[in-house]
Amino acid sequence: MRYSALSVFLNALRGNKSWGPAWRAPEPKPHYDVVIVGGGGHGLATAYYLAKEFGITNVAVLEKGWLGSGNIGRNTTIIRSNYLLDGNEPFYEFSLKLWEGLEQDFNFNAMVSQRGVLNLFHSDAQRDAYTRRGNAMLLQGADAQLLDRDEVRAMVPFLGFDSARFPIQGGLLQRRGGTVRHDAVAWGYARGADRRGVDIIQNCEVTGIRRKNGRVVGVETSKGFIGCGKLALTAAGNSTTVARMADIALPIDSHVLQAFVSEGLKPFIDNVVTFGAGHFYISQSDKGGLVFGGDIDGYNSYAQRGNLAAVEHVMEAGTAMIPGLSRIRVLRSWGGIMDMSMDGSPIIDRTHIDNLYLNAGWCYGGFKATPASGWCTAHLVANDAPHPTAAAFRLDRFKRGYLIDENGGGAQPNLH
Ligand SMILES: Cc1cc2nc3c(=O)[nH]c(=O)nc-3n(C[C@H](O)[C@H](O)[C@H](O)COP(=O)(O)OP(=O)(O)OC[C@H]3O[C@@H](n4cnc5c(N)ncnc54)[C@H](O)[C@@H]3O)c2cc1C
Repeated sequence: MRYSALSVFLNALRGNKSWGPAWRAPEPKPHYDVVIVGGGGHGLATAYYLAKEFGITNVAVLEKGWLGSGNIGRNTTIIRSNYLLDGNEPFYEFSLKLWEGLEQDFNFNAMVSQRGVLNLFHSDAQRDAYTRRGNAMLLQGADAQLLDRDEVRAMVPFLGFDSARFPIQGGLLQRRGGTVRHDAVAWGYARGADRRGVDIIQNCEVTGIRRKNGRVVGVETSKGFIGCGKLALTAAGNSTTVARMADIALPIDSHVLQAFVSEGLKPFIDNVVTFGAGHFYISQSDKGGLVFGGDIDGYNSYAQRGNLAAVEHVMEAGTAMIPGLSRIRVLRSWGGIMDMSMDGSPIIDRTHIDNLYLNAGWCYGGFKATPASGWCTAHLVANDAPHPTAAAFRLDRFKRGYLIDENGGGAQPNLH
C-alpha cells in the first residue's frame, strides 16, 4: 500500500484495522543473485537501490537481530556534508542531496529536518581551519557560512560565551545539515526494498562464508546455507568478524560510541551545535529530549554498551559548552559499535575475492552517509566498478599510502 494523506484518512475511517505489515517475513530461498550481510541502514539502502536503480531484485538482506538493532537505530541522527577533503566532500554532498528527496523517493516519513549544523570555533587557528573547510564545501557545491561571535550569540544565546577557558569566537554553519529520525530510515528502506521483491530476513546470523575455486558460493547462517552469486558485507561494527570468515583482515578497529538523552524540555536548541574545544555535540529531539554525545570509549569492544569514564568526559565537555546543562537530568544512554578505519574514512570496494564486496569503516559518521553509501555500494555490486563519488574509498589505499585523513589523526582510529 502506498502511504498518502488519503490512505491515512481512509484507514482512520476503518478504525486503522487495514494497515498491512510494512515488509514481509519470508523464509530464505536456497539461492539469491545478491546476498547482503547486515540489515542496518547501509545494507537496506544497498538492497533498495539495487532493486530500484539497477533492476536487481533477487536479493536477500540477512540480519542477525531485528532491523534497527545496530547503529542505524542508535545514532544521534545528524546529517551534514561539512567535509574538507576531495575524497569525502562530494560523496557526503551527494548523500545530503539524496536525503533532501528521500521521503518522496521511498514514500515514508523519515522526519528529515534541515535545521542547520553549527561547528563552534574558539581560536584564530580554528577559525582559519573552518574558513578553509567552508571554502572547500562551497567549491563542491555545498552550502557553508562563517558566523562571528555576535551572529552565533543571536542564534544560540545559551552557550558559555563568557567561559574564560574556551571563549567562543564564531562558528561554521551548514544550514542544510540537520537531523533525520534514524529508525524511520531503516523502516523506509526496508519497506521500499521489500515492495520491489527483496527478502529481508531477520534473526538470521551469518556464521561462515563458503568459497569454491576462489569465489564465494554462499553463506552459512543460523537458518542454514544460503547460496549467492554475489556477497556484500555491510556489517558496520562487526565488519572485522564477518570479513574474517573469508580470511580477510580489515584495517578497522571496533570501539563503542555512547549517546545520551535528557528529560523532555521546552524547545530551546533549534539546531545541531558542536563544541570546538572538546568532542561534544547536541540537538533537541521533537519530543523535547536533548540528544548528545562525544568521544568513543578508548578501548576495543564488540559490546553495545559503554563505560563511565566516557560518560564523565561527555558531561564535562557538555557543561563547558552549555553551563546550564548541569541542571538537566539525563534519562537514558546507550552504545553502538563503531567500525573505526585507520584514516577515519570509509571503504566501499571489491575485495581480492571476485564476487565479495565490502562496505565498512564508517567511524562516527555513517548515518549521514546512508543514502549515498547504499547507492554507491549498489552501483559497485551491479557494475563491478566503483561509483565516481566513492572512487577514493578503496580498500588498498592503506597499502598504497593514499589515505583520506580528514582529521590529520594518522593511523589512529581513536583520533578520528
Ligand atoms: C551513539 C552513536 C551516535 C552516532 N551518531 C551519528 C550521527 O549523529 N551522524 C552520523 O552520520 N552517524 C552517527 N553514528 C554512526 C552511524 O550510526 C553508523 O556509522 C552507521 O549507522 C553504520 O551503518 P549501518 O546503519 O549499516 O550499521 P548497523 O545498523 O550497525 O548495521 C549493521 C548490521 O549488521 C548486523 N550484523 C553484524 N554481524 C552480522 C552477522 N554475522 N550476520 C548478520 N547480520 C550481522 C548487525 O546486527 C547490524 O544490524 C553514530 C553511531 C553511534 C553508535
